[in-house]
Amino acid sequence: MERTFIAVKPDGVQRGLVMEIMSRFEKRGFKLVGIKILNASEELLTKHYEEHVGKPFFPKMVSFMRSGPIVATVWEGKDVVNQGRAMLGKTNPTDSAPGTIRGDFGIDLGRNVCHGSDSVESANREIKLWFKDEELANWESNQTKWLYE
Ligand code: UDP
Repeated sequence: MERTFIAVKPDGVQRGLVMEIMSRFEKRGFKLVGIKILNASEELLTKHYEEHVGKPFFPKMVSFMRSGPIVATVWEGKDVVNQGRAMLGKTNPTDSAPGTIRGDFGIDLGRNVCHGSDSVESANREIKLWFKDEELANWESNQTKWLYE
């Protein structure tokens, strides 16, 4: 089963949106297999955002991501990477449809509330970066048979 990495950024944590965001994934039927709150190091964020190193917005973005705790989560389910991106909305909240997390709770690009892996490959890389194997729970959800045919 596919897994994705979803994080509530410092603005989402400060604004009290952790449960709102988690609850959308939980109610959709995705299975929570990892969750923690942490202050991310510059090293971790540089690895996480390695594709953006050297871009003009990079230093400000990393400093914002270090301005408070992040809630890091891993969700499991069918097509969860693509579905997760769709639930988050577009990178820029003003391009995001109402009903998406960024479309409902964000305005500015640099305060877009949440992160979600953009491919299965990135998801696997990001999950390894943010979680140790033993921090991820393998469990059978009783809901499985009511969610999947
Ligand atoms: N970002 C920013 N300024 C920019 C471009 C991106 O602050 O000009 C931030 C934005 O918060 C975004 C993150 O950098 O979520 C990573 O950008 P990416 O293009 O990977 O978007 P995402 O995958 O988060 O939708």
